[in-house]
Amino acid sequence: MKRTQTKSVQVGPLKIGGQNRVIIQSMTNTKTKDIEASIKQIKALESAGCEVIRLAVLDMEDAKALKAIKKEVSIPMVADIHFNPDFALEALRSGVDKIRLNPGNIEDENKIHEIVELAKEKKVPLRIGINAGSLNKKYTHSIDAMIESAKDHLRILEKYHFDDICLSFKSSDALETVAVYEKASEIFPYPLHLGVTEAGGLLDSAIKSSFALGKLLDEGIGDTIRISISDDPIKEVIVAKKLLKTVGLYKNTPTLIACPTCGRIQYDMLPIVKEMEEYLNTLDKDIKVAIMGCPVNGPQEAKRADIGIAGGKDKALLFKKGEIIKTIDQKDAVKVLKEEIEKM
Ligand code: SF4
Repeated sequence: MKRTQTKSVQVGPLKIGGQNRVIIQSMTNTKTKDIEASIKQIKALESAGCEVIRLAVLDMEDAKALKAIKKEVSIPMVADIHFNPDFALEALRSGVDKIRLNPGNIEDENKIHEIVELAKEKKVPLRIGINAGSLNKKYTHSIDAMIESAKDHLRILEKYHFDDICLSFKSSDALETVAVYEKASEIFPYPLHLGVTEAGGLLDSAIKSSFALGKLLDEGIGDTIRISISDDPIKEVIVAKKLLKTVGLYKNTPTLIACPTCGRIQYDMLPIVKEMEEYLNTLDKDIKVAIMGCPVNGPQEAKRADIGIAGGKDKALLFKKGEIIKTIDQKDAVKVLKEEIEKM
Protein backbone atom coordinates (compact mmCIF):
# COMPACT_ATOMS: atom_id res chain seq x y z
CA MET A 1 0.00 0.00 0.00
CA LYS A 2 1.35 3.43 -0.93
CA ARG A 3 1.89 5.49 2.20
CA THR A 4 1.74 9.27 2.35
CA GLN A 5 5.31 10.49 2.00
CA THR A 6 6.59 11.89 5.27
CA LYS A 7 10.03 12.71 6.54
CA SER A 8 11.64 9.64 8.05
CA VAL A 9 13.02 9.77 11.60
CA GLN A 10 15.31 7.30 13.32
CA VAL A 11 14.07 5.81 16.59
CA GLY A 12 16.77 3.46 17.85
CA PRO A 13 17.20 0.90 15.07
CA LEU A 14 13.79 1.71 13.52
CA LYS A 15 12.85 4.23 10.91
CA ILE A 16 9.45 5.87 11.38
CA GLY A 17 7.93 7.69 8.43
CA GLY A 18 8.88 7.85 4.78
CA GLN A 19 7.67 4.68 3.14
CA ASN A 20 8.71 2.54 6.10
CA ARG A 21 6.29 0.08 7.60
CA VAL A 22 3.89 1.21 10.31
CA ILE A 23 5.40 0.67 13.76
CA ILE A 24 3.42 -0.63 16.75
CA GLN A 25 3.78 1.29 20.01
CA SER A 26 2.43 0.91 23.51
CA MET A 27 2.96 2.53 26.88
CA THR A 28 3.88 1.01 30.22
CA ASN A 29 1.46 1.46 33.11
CA THR A 30 4.01 0.63 35.78
CA LYS A 31 5.67 3.37 37.79
CA THR A 32 8.78 4.09 35.74
CA LYS A 33 10.84 4.36 38.92
CA ASP A 34 9.84 0.75 39.67
CA ILE A 35 12.62 -0.44 37.42
CA GLU A 36 12.02 -4.16 37.85
CA ALA A 37 8.29 -3.96 37.12
CA SER A 38 8.87 -1.69 34.13
CA ILE A 39 11.47 -4.01 32.62
CA LYS A 40 9.17 -6.99 33.15
CA GLN A 41 6.26 -5.27 31.44
CA ILE A 42 8.35 -4.02 28.53
CA LYS A 43 9.74 -7.51 27.92
CA ALA A 44 6.22 -8.96 27.93
CA LEU A 45 5.07 -6.24 25.52
CA GLU A 46 8.03 -6.90 23.27
CA SER A 47 7.20 -10.62 23.16
CA ALA A 48 3.64 -9.69 22.20
CA GLY A 49 4.91 -7.62 19.25
CA CYS A 50 5.38 -4.11 20.65
CA GLU A 51 8.11 -2.33 18.71
CA VAL A 52 8.48 0.96 20.57
CA ILE A 53 7.63 1.57 24.22
CA ARG A 54 6.75 4.86 25.91
CA LEU A 55 7.25 5.48 29.62
CA ALA A 56 5.81 8.30 31.70
CA VAL A 57 8.37 10.50 33.43
CA LEU A 58 6.78 12.29 36.37
CA ASP A 59 9.86 13.24 38.37
CA MET A 60 13.63 13.04 38.41
CA GLU A 61 13.57 9.55 39.91
CA ASP A 62 11.60 8.35 36.86
CA ALA A 63 14.01 10.14 34.52
CA LYS A 64 17.02 8.56 36.18
CA ALA A 65 15.39 5.09 36.13
CA LEU A 66 15.32 5.16 32.33
CA LYS A 67 19.02 4.40 32.12
CA ALA A 68 18.75 1.15 34.09
CA ILE A 69 15.62 0.11 32.16
CA LYS A 70 17.28 0.89 28.84
CA LYS A 71 20.13 -1.48 29.65
CA GLU A 72 17.74 -4.41 30.04
CA VAL A 73 15.31 -3.99 27.16
CA SER A 74 15.90 -4.12 23.45
CA ILE A 75 13.03 -2.14 21.92
CA PRO A 76 13.39 1.64 21.55
CA MET A 77 12.17 3.70 24.49
CA VAL A 78 10.26 6.98 24.42
CA ALA A 79 10.21 9.25 27.48
CA ASP A 80 6.86 10.98 27.94
CA ILE A 81 7.44 14.34 29.57
CA HIS A 82 5.19 17.25 30.43
CA PHE A 83 6.30 20.70 31.49
CA ASN A 84 9.64 19.99 33.18
CA PRO A 85 12.64 20.44 30.87
CA ASP A 86 15.10 18.96 33.34
CA PHE A 87 13.35 15.59 33.08
CA ALA A 88 13.77 15.75 29.30
CA LEU A 89 17.47 16.54 29.62
CA GLU A 90 17.95 13.69 32.07
CA ALA A 91 15.98 11.32 29.81
CA LEU A 92 18.21 12.26 26.90
CA ARG A 93 21.29 11.62 29.01
CA SER A 94 19.76 8.27 30.03
CA GLY A 95 19.89 7.15 26.42
CA VAL A 96 16.23 7.12 25.41
CA ASP A 97 15.48 6.90 21.71
CA LYS A 98 12.74 9.50 21.50
CA ILE A 99 11.11 12.14 23.68
CA ARG A 100 7.45 13.08 23.71
CA LEU A 101 7.33 16.72 24.74
CA ASN A 102 5.43 19.86 23.82
CA PRO A 103 7.96 22.70 23.81
CA GLY A 104 5.22 25.33 24.08
CA ASN A 105 4.49 24.05 27.59
CA ILE A 106 8.00 24.85 28.78
CA GLU A 107 8.41 28.39 29.99
CA ASP A 108 12.19 28.73 29.99
CA GLU A 109 13.25 29.18 26.38
CA ASN A 110 16.92 28.55 27.25
CA LYS A 111 15.96 25.12 28.48
CA ILE A 112 14.15 24.35 25.23
CA HIS A 113 17.28 25.33 23.36
CA GLU A 114 19.32 23.06 25.61
CA ILE A 115 16.95 20.13 24.98
CA VAL A 116 17.05 20.71 21.23
CA GLU A 117 20.85 20.83 21.14
CA LEU A 118 21.18 17.65 23.21
CA ALA A 119 18.54 15.88 21.08
CA LYS A 120 20.49 16.91 17.98
CA GLU A 121 23.74 15.65 19.46
CA LYS A 122 22.16 12.33 20.42
CA LYS A 123 20.14 12.10 17.20
CA VAL A 124 16.94 11.65 19.19
CA PRO A 125 13.64 12.77 17.64
CA LEU A 126 10.94 14.63 19.55
CA ARG A 127 7.23 13.94 19.28
CA ILE A 128 4.87 16.84 19.70
CA GLY A 129 1.60 15.39 20.96
CA ILE A 130 -1.52 17.49 20.54
CA ASN A 131 -4.43 16.25 22.63
CA ALA A 132 -7.90 17.66 22.05
CA GLY A 133 -8.49 17.59 25.80
CA SER A 134 -5.45 19.66 26.77
CA LEU A 135 -5.18 22.45 24.23
CA ASN A 136 -3.73 25.78 25.27
CA LYS A 137 -6.42 27.96 26.88
CA LYS A 138 -6.12 30.53 24.09
CA TYR A 139 -7.85 28.02 21.78
CA THR A 140 -11.46 26.99 21.58
CA HIS A 141 -11.68 23.33 20.84
CA SER A 142 -11.72 22.56 17.12
CA ILE A 143 -9.75 20.68 14.52
CA ASP A 144 -8.20 23.93 13.31
CA ALA A 145 -7.18 24.75 16.87
CA MET A 146 -5.36 21.41 17.14
CA ILE A 147 -3.50 22.15 13.91
CA GLU A 148 -2.66 25.70 15.02
CA SER A 149 -1.46 24.40 18.37
CA ALA A 150 0.93 22.03 16.58
CA LYS A 151 2.22 24.96 14.53
CA ASP A 152 2.89 26.90 17.75
CA HIS A 153 5.03 24.08 19.12
CA LEU A 154 6.74 23.50 15.79
CA ARG A 155 7.73 27.13 15.43
CA ILE A 156 9.74 26.83 18.64
CA LEU A 157 11.66 23.79 17.42
CA GLU A 158 12.12 25.05 13.88
CA LYS A 159 13.56 28.30 15.25
CA TYR A 160 16.47 26.16 16.45
CA HIS A 161 16.62 24.36 13.07
CA PHE A 162 15.32 21.14 14.57
CA ASP A 163 13.25 18.94 12.28
CA ASP A 164 13.72 15.49 13.77
CA ILE A 165 10.06 15.49 14.68
CA CYS A 166 6.95 13.28 14.87
CA LEU A 167 3.46 14.61 15.43
CA SER A 168 0.30 13.24 16.98
CA PHE A 169 -3.20 14.71 17.15
CA LYS A 170 -5.28 12.69 19.55
CA SER A 171 -8.93 12.96 20.33
CA SER A 172 -11.26 10.59 22.13
CA ASP A 173 -13.72 11.09 19.28
CA ALA A 174 -13.05 8.75 16.35
CA LEU A 175 -14.51 11.03 13.66
CA GLU A 176 -12.54 13.99 14.95
CA THR A 177 -9.41 11.84 14.98
CA VAL A 178 -9.89 11.03 11.29
CA ALA A 179 -10.55 14.64 10.36
CA VAL A 180 -7.58 16.11 12.20
CA TYR A 181 -5.07 13.57 10.89
CA GLU A 182 -6.37 13.98 7.33
CA LYS A 183 -5.80 17.68 7.64
CA ALA A 184 -2.41 17.29 9.35
CA SER A 185 -1.19 14.95 6.61
CA GLU A 186 -1.83 17.67 4.04
CA ILE A 187 0.01 20.33 6.02
CA PHE A 188 2.98 18.80 7.83
CA PRO A 189 5.91 16.86 6.39
CA TYR A 190 6.55 15.01 9.65
CA PRO A 191 5.65 11.39 10.40
CA LEU A 192 2.33 10.91 12.16
CA HIS A 193 1.78 8.84 15.27
CA LEU A 194 -1.85 7.70 15.15
CA GLY A 195 -4.15 7.01 18.06
CA VAL A 196 -7.59 7.57 19.48
CA THR A 197 -6.91 8.71 23.01
CA GLU A 198 -8.87 7.73 26.11
CA ALA A 199 -10.66 5.26 23.90
CA GLY A 200 -12.09 3.19 26.75
CA GLY A 201 -12.01 -0.54 27.48
CA LEU A 202 -11.11 -3.27 25.04
CA LEU A 203 -14.35 -3.38 23.09
CA ASP A 204 -14.88 0.39 22.83
CA SER A 205 -11.28 1.07 21.98
CA ALA A 206 -11.07 -1.73 19.41
CA ILE A 207 -14.12 -0.33 17.64
CA LYS A 208 -13.11 3.34 17.76
CA SER A 209 -9.46 2.66 16.93
CA SER A 210 -10.26 0.22 14.12
CA PHE A 211 -12.63 2.68 12.53
CA ALA A 212 -10.43 5.76 12.83
CA LEU A 213 -7.00 4.26 12.38
CA GLY A 214 -8.23 1.74 9.81
CA LYS A 215 -9.66 4.52 7.68
CA LEU A 216 -6.52 6.64 7.97
CA LEU A 217 -4.17 3.75 7.31
CA ASP A 218 -6.21 2.76 4.29
CA GLU A 219 -5.77 6.32 3.00
CA GLY A 220 -2.01 5.89 3.44
CA ILE A 221 -1.87 8.15 6.51
CA GLY A 222 0.04 7.17 9.64
CA ASP A 223 3.56 5.98 10.35
CA THR A 224 3.21 4.51 13.82
CA ILE A 225 0.19 3.57 15.94
CA ARG A 226 -0.82 3.17 19.51
CA ILE A 227 -4.17 1.64 20.47
CA SER A 228 -5.14 3.14 23.80
CA ILE A 229 -7.03 0.65 25.99
CA SER A 230 -7.98 0.90 29.66
CA ASP A 231 -6.60 -2.57 30.33
CA ASP A 232 -3.39 -4.59 30.20
CA PRO A 233 -1.22 -2.91 27.51
CA ILE A 234 -0.55 -6.33 25.96
CA LYS A 235 -4.08 -6.01 24.57
CA GLU A 236 -3.09 -2.77 22.85
CA VAL A 237 -0.41 -4.62 20.95
CA ILE A 238 -2.70 -7.50 20.01
CA VAL A 239 -5.36 -5.12 18.68
CA ALA A 240 -2.70 -3.09 16.82
CA LYS A 241 -1.37 -6.22 15.10
CA LYS A 242 -4.84 -7.40 14.15
CA LEU A 243 -5.77 -3.97 12.82
CA LEU A 244 -2.61 -3.63 10.75
CA LYS A 245 -3.10 -7.15 9.39
CA THR A 246 -6.70 -6.37 8.46
CA VAL A 247 -5.59 -3.40 6.37
CA GLY A 248 -2.76 -5.37 4.78
CA LEU A 249 0.11 -3.69 6.61
CA TYR A 250 1.29 -6.52 8.82
CA LYS A 251 1.97 -10.18 8.23
CA ASN A 252 3.25 -12.03 11.23
CA THR A 253 0.14 -12.64 13.23
CA PRO A 254 -2.45 -15.40 12.76
CA THR A 255 -5.90 -14.79 11.32
CA LEU A 256 -8.75 -16.61 13.03
CA ILE A 257 -11.87 -17.35 11.01
CA ALA A 258 -14.73 -18.58 13.18
CA CYS A 259 -18.46 -18.68 12.55
CA PRO A 260 -20.79 -17.08 15.10
CA THR A 261 -22.60 -20.47 15.50
CA CYS A 262 -26.34 -20.94 15.05
CA GLY A 263 -29.01 -23.56 15.60
CA ARG A 264 -27.27 -25.95 13.22
CA ILE A 265 -24.28 -26.44 15.50
CA GLN A 266 -23.85 -29.93 16.94
CA TYR A 267 -20.65 -29.60 18.92
CA ASP A 268 -19.43 -27.32 21.69
CA MET A 269 -17.49 -24.90 19.53
CA LEU A 270 -17.28 -21.64 21.47
CA PRO A 271 -14.85 -22.87 24.20
CA ILE A 272 -12.61 -24.12 21.38
CA VAL A 273 -12.68 -20.69 19.74
CA LYS A 274 -11.89 -18.97 23.03
CA GLU A 275 -8.95 -21.21 23.83
CA MET A 276 -7.57 -21.04 20.30
CA GLU A 277 -7.93 -17.26 20.20
CA GLU A 278 -5.85 -16.92 23.37
CA TYR A 279 -3.25 -19.29 21.97
CA LEU A 280 -3.09 -17.63 18.55
CA ASN A 281 -2.59 -14.22 20.16
CA THR A 282 0.76 -15.50 21.44
CA LEU A 283 2.05 -16.51 17.98
CA ASP A 284 3.81 -14.47 15.36
CA LYS A 285 3.00 -16.75 12.42
CA ASP A 286 1.27 -15.64 9.25
CA ILE A 287 -1.34 -18.42 9.25
CA LYS A 288 -5.08 -18.64 8.74
CA VAL A 289 -7.00 -20.86 11.17
CA ALA A 290 -10.69 -21.67 10.68
CA ILE A 291 -13.04 -22.99 13.35
CA MET A 292 -16.43 -23.60 11.82
CA GLY A 293 -19.67 -24.87 13.20
CA CYS A 294 -21.27 -27.24 10.73
CA PRO A 295 -21.17 -28.73 7.24
CA VAL A 296 -23.12 -25.82 5.70
CA ASN A 297 -20.29 -23.27 5.45
CA GLY A 298 -17.69 -25.05 7.49
CA PRO A 299 -15.82 -27.19 4.99
CA GLN A 300 -15.42 -24.40 2.44
CA GLU A 301 -13.98 -21.95 4.95
CA ALA A 302 -11.88 -24.65 6.60
CA LYS A 303 -10.51 -25.64 3.20
CA ARG A 304 -9.40 -22.10 2.41
CA ALA A 305 -7.52 -21.81 5.69
CA ASP A 306 -4.07 -23.22 6.41
CA ILE A 307 -5.62 -25.34 9.13
CA GLY A 308 -9.21 -25.66 10.22
CA ILE A 309 -12.01 -27.70 11.64
CA ALA A 310 -15.63 -28.01 10.56
CA GLY A 311 -17.96 -29.43 13.19
CA GLY A 312 -20.29 -32.41 13.03
CA LYS A 313 -22.06 -34.24 15.86
CA ASP A 314 -19.63 -34.03 18.82
CA LYS A 315 -16.86 -34.31 16.27
CA ALA A 316 -15.07 -32.20 13.71
CA LEU A 317 -13.36 -32.70 10.38
CA LEU A 318 -9.77 -31.53 10.41
CA PHE A 319 -8.58 -29.71 7.26
CA LYS A 320 -5.03 -28.81 6.39
CA LYS A 321 -4.21 -26.77 3.29
CA GLY A 322 -7.55 -27.65 1.76
CA GLU A 323 -7.39 -31.40 2.40
CA ILE A 324 -9.38 -33.41 4.95
CA ILE A 325 -6.84 -35.03 7.26
CA LYS A 326 -9.07 -36.88 9.72
CA THR A 327 -12.11 -36.77 11.98
CA ILE A 328 -11.40 -35.74 15.57
CA ASP A 329 -13.43 -35.74 18.80
CA GLN A 330 -14.37 -32.24 19.92
CA LYS A 331 -12.52 -32.81 23.21
CA ASP A 332 -9.28 -33.23 21.23
CA ALA A 333 -9.83 -30.28 18.88
CA VAL A 334 -7.66 -27.70 20.68
CA LYS A 335 -4.84 -30.14 21.29
CA VAL A 336 -4.81 -31.37 17.69
CA LEU A 337 -5.01 -27.87 16.23
CA LYS A 338 -2.15 -26.67 18.40
CA GLU A 339 -0.01 -29.69 17.45
CA GLU A 340 -0.62 -29.08 13.77
CA ILE A 341 0.08 -25.34 14.07
CA GLU A 342 3.35 -26.02 15.92
CA LYS A 343 4.48 -28.04 12.89
CA MET A 344 3.80 -25.17 10.48
S1 SF4 B 1 -21.09 -22.53 9.88
FE1 SF4 B 1 -22.93 -23.67 10.39
S2 SF4 B 1 -23.11 -23.42 12.62
FE2 SF4 B 1 -21.74 -21.84 11.91
S3 SF4 B 1 -23.09 -20.10 11.62
FE3 SF4 B 1 -22.81 -21.10 9.63
S4 SF4 B 1 -24.56 -22.45 9.49
FE4 SF4 B 1 -24.40 -21.87 11.64
